[in-house]
Amino acid sequence: MNSIYRKSLFNIPSGMIYLDGNSLGPPLKGIESISEDVIAKEWGGKLIKGWNESNWMEQPITVGNKIANVIGVDKGSVVAGDTLSIKTYQALAAAIKLNSKRHIILTDIDNFPSDIYIAEGLVDSLNSNFELKKVKRNELISSLNEQVNTVLLTHVDYRTGSMFDLDTITNKIHQNGSTIIWDLAHSAGAVPLNLKANNCDFAVGCTYKYLNGGPGAPAFIYVRPDLIEKCYPIIRGWLGHKAPFDFNNTFEKSPSIEMMRVGTPPVIQMSILEKSLDIFRDLDLHKLREESIKLSDLFINMVEQTCSDLHLESPIKSSERGSQVSFSHPSGYAIMQALIDRNIVGDFRAPNIIRFGITPLYISQEDIIRTVEVLKDILSNRLWDTPAYLNRKKVT
Ligand SMILES: *Cc1c(COP(=O)(O)O)cnc(C)c1O
Repeated sequence: MNSIYRKSLFNIPSGMIYLDGNSLGPPLKGIESISEDVIAKEWGGKLIKGWNESNWMEQPITVGNKIANVIGVDKGSVVAGDTLSIKTYQALAAAIKLNSKRHIILTDIDNFPSDIYIAEGLVDSLNSNFELKKVKRNELISSLNEQVNTVLLTHVDYRTGSMFDLDTITNKIHQNGSTIIWDLAHSAGAVPLNLKANNCDFAVGCTYKYLNGGPGAPAFIYVRPDLIEKCYPIIRGWLGHKAPFDFNNTFEKSPSIEMMRVGTPPVIQMSILEKSLDIFRDLDLHKLREESIKLSDLFINMVEQTCSDLHLESPIKSSERGSQVSFSHPSGYAIMQALIDRNIVGDFRAPNIIRFGITPLYISQEDIIRTVEVLKDILSNRLWDTPAYLNRKKVT
Protein backbone atom coordinates (compact mmCIF):
# COMPACT_ATOMS: atom_id res chain seq x y z
CA MET A 1 0.00 0.00 0.00
CA ASN A 2 1.32 3.48 -0.80
CA SER A 3 2.48 5.75 2.00
CA ILE A 4 -0.28 8.25 1.31
CA TYR A 5 -3.18 5.86 1.85
CA ARG A 6 -4.94 6.47 5.17
CA LYS A 7 -8.52 5.40 4.69
CA SER A 8 -8.74 4.23 8.31
CA LEU A 9 -8.72 7.91 9.34
CA PHE A 10 -11.96 8.58 7.45
CA ASN A 11 -15.56 7.76 8.10
CA ILE A 12 -16.61 6.14 4.82
CA PRO A 13 -19.47 3.60 4.80
CA SER A 14 -18.08 0.09 4.83
CA GLY A 15 -17.90 -1.44 1.36
CA MET A 16 -18.23 1.88 -0.42
CA ILE A 17 -15.70 3.04 -2.99
CA TYR A 18 -15.91 6.81 -2.74
CA LEU A 19 -14.88 8.59 -5.92
CA ASP A 20 -16.55 11.90 -5.17
CA GLY A 21 -14.11 13.58 -2.81
CA ASN A 22 -13.73 16.26 -5.48
CA SER A 23 -17.32 17.28 -4.72
CA LEU A 24 -17.67 16.55 -1.00
CA GLY A 25 -14.78 15.07 0.97
CA PRO A 26 -15.57 12.52 3.71
CA PRO A 27 -15.41 13.32 7.44
CA LEU A 28 -12.47 12.34 9.59
CA LYS A 29 -13.39 9.64 12.09
CA GLY A 30 -14.39 11.18 15.39
CA ILE A 31 -14.84 14.68 13.97
CA GLU A 32 -18.24 14.78 15.64
CA SER A 33 -16.48 15.12 18.99
CA ILE A 34 -15.21 18.52 17.80
CA SER A 35 -18.68 19.86 17.10
CA GLU A 36 -20.02 18.25 20.29
CA ASP A 37 -17.30 19.96 22.34
CA VAL A 38 -17.83 23.30 20.66
CA ILE A 39 -21.55 23.11 21.29
CA ALA A 40 -21.48 21.68 24.82
CA LYS A 41 -18.28 23.06 26.33
CA GLU A 42 -17.58 26.26 24.43
CA TRP A 43 -21.00 27.53 23.40
CA GLY A 44 -22.99 25.90 26.19
CA GLY A 45 -20.32 26.19 28.87
CA LYS A 46 -19.06 29.69 28.13
CA LEU A 47 -21.80 31.34 26.10
CA ILE A 48 -20.71 34.83 25.02
CA LYS A 49 -17.33 34.42 26.74
CA GLY A 50 -16.49 31.85 24.03
CA TRP A 51 -15.56 34.64 21.60
CA ASN A 52 -12.57 35.52 23.77
CA GLU A 53 -11.86 32.40 25.77
CA SER A 54 -12.18 29.87 22.94
CA ASN A 55 -10.57 32.11 20.31
CA TRP A 56 -13.61 32.02 18.07
CA MET A 57 -12.82 35.50 16.75
CA GLU A 58 -9.30 34.53 15.60
CA GLN A 59 -10.42 31.30 13.98
CA PRO A 60 -10.76 32.65 10.41
CA ILE A 61 -7.06 33.56 10.57
CA THR A 62 -5.95 30.39 12.39
CA VAL A 63 -7.73 28.33 9.75
CA GLY A 64 -6.46 30.63 6.98
CA ASN A 65 -2.89 29.94 8.11
CA LYS A 66 -3.43 26.20 7.82
CA ILE A 67 -4.78 26.68 4.30
CA ALA A 68 -1.80 28.92 3.48
CA ASN A 69 0.41 25.90 4.10
CA VAL A 70 -1.59 23.83 1.59
CA ILE A 71 -1.47 26.44 -1.20
CA GLY A 72 2.13 27.52 -0.64
CA VAL A 73 1.82 31.07 0.64
CA ASP A 74 2.85 32.97 3.76
CA LYS A 75 0.90 32.93 6.97
CA GLY A 76 -1.24 36.02 7.36
CA SER A 77 -2.20 36.16 3.68
CA VAL A 78 -5.25 33.86 3.76
CA VAL A 79 -8.52 34.25 5.63
CA ALA A 80 -11.39 31.76 5.84
CA GLY A 81 -15.09 32.57 5.72
CA ASP A 82 -18.28 32.83 3.70
CA THR A 83 -18.72 30.76 0.54
CA LEU A 84 -16.52 30.54 -2.52
CA SER A 85 -19.04 32.52 -4.55
CA ILE A 86 -18.71 35.42 -2.08
CA LYS A 87 -14.92 35.15 -1.93
CA THR A 88 -14.78 35.23 -5.74
CA TYR A 89 -16.84 38.42 -5.74
CA GLN A 90 -14.53 40.00 -3.18
CA ALA A 91 -11.39 39.07 -5.08
CA LEU A 92 -12.73 40.31 -8.40
CA ALA A 93 -14.15 43.54 -7.00
CA ALA A 94 -10.82 44.32 -5.33
CA ALA A 95 -8.72 43.26 -8.31
CA ILE A 96 -10.40 45.42 -10.94
CA LYS A 97 -9.85 48.53 -8.84
CA LEU A 98 -6.10 48.06 -9.05
CA ASN A 99 -6.11 49.12 -12.66
CA SER A 100 -9.00 51.42 -13.37
CA LYS A 101 -7.88 52.24 -16.93
CA ARG A 102 -8.64 48.78 -18.27
CA HIS A 103 -12.20 47.58 -18.68
CA ILE A 104 -12.17 43.88 -19.61
CA ILE A 105 -12.57 40.96 -17.22
CA LEU A 106 -11.53 37.82 -19.01
CA THR A 107 -12.69 34.33 -18.11
CA ASP A 108 -13.02 30.80 -19.45
CA ILE A 109 -16.39 30.30 -21.14
CA ASP A 110 -16.56 26.87 -19.47
CA ASN A 111 -15.73 28.20 -16.02
CA PHE A 112 -17.93 27.07 -13.12
CA PRO A 113 -21.31 28.86 -13.35
CA SER A 114 -20.94 30.76 -10.07
CA ASP A 115 -17.63 32.26 -11.20
CA ILE A 116 -19.24 33.49 -14.42
CA TYR A 117 -22.48 34.69 -12.80
CA ILE A 118 -20.64 36.51 -10.02
CA ALA A 119 -18.48 38.32 -12.57
CA GLU A 120 -21.55 39.21 -14.64
CA GLY A 121 -23.35 40.54 -11.57
CA LEU A 122 -20.38 42.64 -10.59
CA VAL A 123 -20.06 44.10 -14.09
CA ASP A 124 -23.81 44.82 -14.05
CA SER A 125 -23.50 46.75 -10.80
CA LEU A 126 -20.62 48.90 -12.03
CA ASN A 127 -22.74 50.91 -14.39
CA SER A 128 -19.71 51.70 -16.50
CA ASN A 129 -18.08 50.34 -19.58
CA PHE A 130 -16.76 47.21 -17.85
CA GLU A 131 -17.18 44.06 -19.86
CA LEU A 132 -16.96 40.35 -19.08
CA LYS A 133 -15.36 38.49 -21.94
CA LYS A 134 -15.84 34.71 -21.97
CA VAL A 135 -13.52 32.81 -24.27
CA LYS A 136 -12.52 29.20 -24.87
CA ARG A 137 -9.55 27.95 -22.88
CA ASN A 138 -7.30 27.74 -25.91
CA GLU A 139 -8.12 31.35 -26.82
CA LEU A 140 -7.27 32.83 -23.43
CA ILE A 141 -3.71 33.84 -24.14
CA SER A 142 -4.51 35.23 -27.58
CA SER A 143 -7.33 37.27 -26.00
CA LEU A 144 -4.94 39.15 -23.74
CA ASN A 145 -4.60 42.78 -24.79
CA GLU A 146 -4.02 46.19 -23.24
CA GLN A 147 -7.68 46.39 -22.21
CA VAL A 148 -7.66 43.25 -20.07
CA ASN A 149 -7.84 44.28 -16.44
CA THR A 150 -8.26 40.97 -14.61
CA VAL A 151 -8.37 37.31 -15.59
CA LEU A 152 -10.53 34.98 -13.50
CA LEU A 153 -9.69 31.31 -14.01
CA THR A 154 -10.34 28.01 -12.30
CA HIS A 155 -7.09 26.07 -12.09
CA VAL A 156 -8.71 22.64 -12.56
CA ASP A 157 -11.89 22.45 -14.64
CA TYR A 158 -14.77 20.96 -12.69
CA ARG A 159 -16.17 19.02 -15.64
CA THR A 160 -13.12 17.62 -17.37
CA GLY A 161 -10.39 17.90 -14.74
CA SER A 162 -8.31 19.81 -17.29
CA MET A 163 -5.59 21.76 -15.46
CA PHE A 164 -4.02 25.04 -16.51
CA ASP A 165 -0.26 25.44 -16.28
CA LEU A 166 -0.60 27.90 -13.43
CA ASP A 167 2.93 29.26 -13.56
CA THR A 168 3.07 29.84 -17.32
CA ILE A 169 -0.41 31.39 -17.50
CA THR A 170 0.26 33.63 -14.50
CA ASN A 171 3.44 34.89 -16.15
CA LYS A 172 1.72 35.60 -19.44
CA ILE A 173 -1.06 37.49 -17.68
CA HIS A 174 1.47 39.52 -15.72
CA GLN A 175 3.46 40.28 -18.87
CA ASN A 176 0.22 41.71 -20.23
CA GLY A 177 -0.09 43.96 -17.19
CA SER A 178 -3.23 42.19 -15.99
CA THR A 179 -4.19 40.76 -12.62
CA ILE A 180 -4.89 37.04 -12.12
CA ILE A 181 -7.38 35.43 -9.76
CA TRP A 182 -7.07 31.66 -9.46
CA ASP A 183 -10.03 29.66 -8.25
CA LEU A 184 -8.53 26.65 -6.48
CA ALA A 185 -11.81 24.79 -5.78
CA HIS A 186 -10.52 21.63 -7.46
CA SER A 187 -6.84 22.00 -6.65
CA ALA A 188 -6.43 22.86 -2.95
CA GLY A 189 -5.55 19.60 -1.22
CA ALA A 190 -5.35 17.73 -4.52
CA VAL A 191 -2.26 19.06 -6.29
CA PRO A 192 0.90 20.69 -4.91
CA LEU A 193 0.64 24.47 -5.11
CA ASN A 194 3.18 27.18 -4.59
CA LEU A 195 1.29 30.39 -5.21
CA LYS A 196 3.97 32.50 -3.60
CA ALA A 197 6.68 31.27 -5.96
CA ASN A 198 4.25 31.72 -8.87
CA ASN A 199 3.65 35.32 -7.77
CA CYS A 200 -0.14 34.95 -7.99
CA ASP A 201 -2.19 38.03 -7.17
CA PHE A 202 -5.38 36.58 -5.72
CA ALA A 203 -6.70 33.10 -5.08
CA VAL A 204 -9.96 31.75 -3.72
CA GLY A 205 -11.20 28.26 -3.00
CA CYS A 206 -13.59 26.10 -1.06
CA THR A 207 -12.80 23.59 1.65
CA TYR A 208 -15.54 20.97 1.41
CA LYS A 209 -14.01 19.25 -1.63
CA TYR A 210 -10.46 17.88 -1.29
CA LEU A 211 -9.95 19.57 2.11
CA ASN A 212 -12.77 17.58 3.74
CA GLY A 213 -14.23 20.47 5.75
CA GLY A 214 -17.82 19.21 5.46
CA PRO A 215 -20.92 20.45 3.62
CA GLY A 216 -21.07 24.23 3.77
CA ALA A 217 -17.53 24.57 5.18
CA PRO A 218 -16.15 28.15 4.92
CA ALA A 219 -14.26 29.19 1.80
CA PHE A 220 -10.96 31.10 1.68
CA ILE A 221 -9.31 34.03 -0.02
CA TYR A 222 -5.62 34.76 -0.57
CA VAL A 223 -4.30 38.22 -1.39
CA ARG A 224 -0.60 38.62 -2.18
CA PRO A 225 0.92 40.45 0.81
CA ASP A 226 2.02 43.54 -1.16
CA LEU A 227 -1.50 43.86 -2.59
CA ILE A 228 -3.19 43.72 0.81
CA GLU A 229 -2.05 47.28 1.33
CA LYS A 230 -3.05 48.40 -2.16
CA CYS A 231 -6.55 47.01 -2.42
CA TYR A 232 -9.78 47.83 -0.71
CA PRO A 233 -12.64 45.50 0.24
CA ILE A 234 -15.89 46.11 -1.60
CA ILE A 235 -18.10 44.05 0.71
CA ARG A 236 -17.51 46.08 3.83
CA GLY A 237 -18.60 44.07 6.83
CA TRP A 238 -17.84 45.16 10.36
CA LEU A 239 -15.25 42.42 10.82
CA GLY A 240 -13.19 43.78 7.93
CA HIS A 241 -12.79 47.04 9.85
CA LYS A 242 -9.45 47.75 11.50
CA ALA A 243 -11.16 48.06 14.89
CA PRO A 244 -14.56 46.34 14.78
CA PHE A 245 -15.22 46.89 18.45
CA ASP A 246 -14.84 50.64 18.18
CA PHE A 247 -18.19 50.50 16.33
CA ASN A 248 -17.17 53.45 14.24
CA ASN A 249 -19.64 54.79 11.71
CA THR A 250 -16.99 55.10 9.00
CA PHE A 251 -15.33 52.08 7.44
CA GLU A 252 -11.56 51.90 7.72
CA LYS A 253 -10.14 48.69 6.37
CA SER A 254 -8.07 46.34 8.45
CA PRO A 255 -4.41 46.63 7.40
CA SER A 256 -4.22 42.83 7.25
CA ILE A 257 -5.93 40.10 5.22
CA GLU A 258 -8.74 40.45 7.78
CA MET A 259 -10.08 43.23 5.55
CA MET A 260 -11.61 40.36 3.56
CA ARG A 261 -13.63 39.17 6.54
CA VAL A 262 -17.28 40.12 6.35
CA GLY A 263 -19.40 39.13 9.34
CA THR A 264 -19.70 36.67 12.20
CA PRO A 265 -17.88 33.43 11.37
CA PRO A 266 -19.65 30.03 11.53
CA VAL A 267 -17.81 28.77 14.62
CA ILE A 268 -18.99 25.15 14.60
CA GLN A 269 -18.24 24.63 10.92
CA MET A 270 -14.94 26.52 11.26
CA SER A 271 -13.90 24.22 14.14
CA ILE A 272 -14.61 21.12 12.07
CA LEU A 273 -12.57 22.55 9.21
CA GLU A 274 -9.69 23.49 11.49
CA LYS A 275 -9.45 19.90 12.69
CA SER A 276 -9.86 18.42 9.20
CA LEU A 277 -6.92 20.45 7.92
CA ASP A 278 -4.58 18.72 10.38
CA ILE A 279 -4.22 15.85 7.92
CA PHE A 280 -2.45 18.22 5.51
CA ARG A 281 0.04 19.52 8.06
CA ASP A 282 2.66 16.88 7.37
CA LEU A 283 1.33 15.46 4.14
CA ASP A 284 3.69 15.42 1.17
CA LEU A 285 1.48 16.81 -1.59
CA HIS A 286 4.03 15.78 -4.22
CA LYS A 287 3.67 12.15 -3.11
CA LEU A 288 -0.10 12.56 -3.07
CA ARG A 289 0.07 13.87 -6.62
CA GLU A 290 2.27 10.96 -7.75
CA GLU A 291 -0.25 8.47 -6.38
CA SER A 292 -3.15 10.35 -7.90
CA ILE A 293 -1.47 10.19 -11.32
CA LYS A 294 -0.74 6.48 -10.96
CA LEU A 295 -4.34 5.70 -10.03
CA SER A 296 -5.78 7.98 -12.71
CA ASP A 297 -3.55 6.52 -15.44
CA LEU A 298 -4.52 3.01 -14.38
CA PHE A 299 -8.20 3.96 -14.43
CA ILE A 300 -8.00 5.57 -17.86
CA ASN A 301 -6.05 2.67 -19.38
CA MET A 302 -8.40 0.04 -18.00
CA VAL A 303 -11.54 1.92 -19.04
CA GLU A 304 -10.18 2.45 -22.54
CA GLN A 305 -9.47 -1.27 -22.83
CA THR A 306 -12.76 -2.57 -21.45
CA CYS A 307 -15.42 0.14 -21.77
CA SER A 308 -15.10 1.41 -25.32
CA ASP A 309 -18.51 3.18 -25.11
CA LEU A 310 -17.06 5.72 -22.71
CA HIS A 311 -15.28 8.68 -24.19
CA LEU A 312 -12.43 10.22 -22.17
CA GLU A 313 -13.14 13.90 -21.50
CA SER A 314 -10.07 14.48 -19.33
CA PRO A 315 -6.65 15.19 -20.79
CA ILE A 316 -4.73 11.99 -21.45
CA LYS A 317 -1.50 13.69 -20.37
CA SER A 318 -1.27 13.55 -16.59
CA SER A 319 0.52 16.91 -16.40
CA GLU A 320 -2.59 18.55 -17.89
CA ARG A 321 -5.02 16.85 -15.55
CA GLY A 322 -6.02 17.59 -11.97
CA SER A 323 -7.14 14.81 -9.63
CA GLN A 324 -10.29 13.70 -11.40
CA VAL A 325 -11.14 11.64 -14.45
CA SER A 326 -14.23 12.28 -16.55
CA PHE A 327 -15.89 10.33 -19.31
CA SER A 328 -18.89 11.13 -21.46
CA HIS A 329 -21.69 8.84 -22.57
CA PRO A 330 -25.17 9.75 -23.82
CA SER A 331 -26.64 7.82 -20.87
CA GLY A 332 -24.06 9.08 -18.38
CA TYR A 333 -26.62 9.91 -15.72
CA ALA A 334 -28.15 6.41 -15.66
CA ILE A 335 -24.71 4.77 -15.74
CA MET A 336 -23.67 6.73 -12.68
CA GLN A 337 -26.90 5.83 -10.89
CA ALA A 338 -26.26 2.16 -11.60
CA LEU A 339 -22.71 2.51 -10.21
CA ILE A 340 -23.91 4.33 -7.09
CA ASP A 341 -26.46 1.56 -6.54
CA ARG A 342 -23.50 -0.84 -6.49
CA ASN A 343 -21.77 1.23 -3.81
CA ILE A 344 -19.30 2.97 -6.11
CA VAL A 345 -19.93 6.68 -5.81
CA GLY A 346 -18.93 9.26 -8.38
CA ASP A 347 -21.17 11.94 -9.85
CA PHE A 348 -22.65 13.38 -13.02
CA ARG A 349 -22.41 16.79 -14.64
CA ALA A 350 -24.74 17.87 -17.43
CA PRO A 351 -25.01 17.25 -20.25
CA ASN A 352 -23.35 13.81 -20.34
CA ILE A 353 -20.28 13.62 -18.10
CA ILE A 354 -19.55 11.10 -15.38
CA ARG A 355 -16.85 12.25 -12.96
CA PHE A 356 -14.53 10.29 -10.72
CA GLY A 357 -12.50 12.08 -8.07
CA ILE A 358 -9.19 10.33 -7.50
CA THR A 359 -8.21 10.84 -3.87
CA PRO A 360 -5.27 8.61 -2.88
CA LEU A 361 -5.87 9.31 0.81
CA TYR A 362 -8.70 6.77 0.68
CA ILE A 363 -8.68 5.25 -2.83
CA SER A 364 -6.46 2.27 -3.61
CA GLN A 365 -5.46 0.45 -6.75
CA GLU A 366 -7.89 -2.36 -5.83
CA ASP A 367 -10.69 0.20 -5.69
CA ILE A 368 -9.88 1.35 -9.22
CA ILE A 369 -9.77 -2.21 -10.55
CA ARG A 370 -13.09 -3.03 -8.88
CA THR A 371 -14.67 0.15 -10.26
CA VAL A 372 -13.71 -0.73 -13.82
CA GLU A 373 -15.04 -4.30 -13.40
CA VAL A 374 -18.42 -3.01 -12.26
CA LEU A 375 -18.47 -0.30 -14.91
CA LYS A 376 -17.79 -2.90 -17.58
CA ASP A 377 -20.61 -5.10 -16.28
CA ILE A 378 -23.03 -2.14 -16.26
CA LEU A 379 -22.13 -1.16 -19.81
CA SER A 380 -21.88 -4.53 -21.49
CA ASN A 381 -25.12 -5.79 -19.93
CA ARG A 382 -26.97 -2.43 -20.20
CA LEU A 383 -27.70 -2.58 -16.49
CA TRP A 384 -28.18 1.18 -16.52
CA ASP A 385 -31.20 0.93 -18.82
CA THR A 386 -33.94 0.84 -16.21
CA PRO A 387 -36.47 3.53 -15.20
CA ALA A 388 -35.05 3.74 -11.66
CA TYR A 389 -31.73 5.05 -13.02
CA LEU A 390 -33.07 7.27 -15.76
CA ASN A 391 -35.08 9.59 -13.51
CA ARG A 392 -32.87 12.56 -12.63
CA LYS A 393 -32.60 13.67 -8.98
CA LYS A 394 -32.27 17.28 -7.88
CA VAL A 395 -28.58 17.06 -6.94
CA THR A 396 -26.59 15.13 -9.52
C1 LIG B 1 -17.43 24.01 -6.17
C2 LIG B 1 -17.17 25.28 -6.89
C3 LIG B 1 -17.82 26.48 -6.52
C4 LIG B 1 -18.89 26.48 -5.46
O1 LIG B 1 -19.07 27.71 -4.85
P1 LIG B 1 -19.84 27.80 -3.45
O2 LIG B 1 -20.07 29.24 -3.25
O3 LIG B 1 -18.93 27.17 -2.43
O4 LIG B 1 -21.10 27.00 -3.57
C5 LIG B 1 -17.46 27.65 -7.17
N1 LIG B 1 -16.53 27.65 -8.16
C6 LIG B 1 -15.90 26.51 -8.54
C7 LIG B 1 -14.87 26.55 -9.61
C8 LIG B 1 -16.22 25.30 -7.93
O5 LIG B 1 -15.63 24.17 -8.34
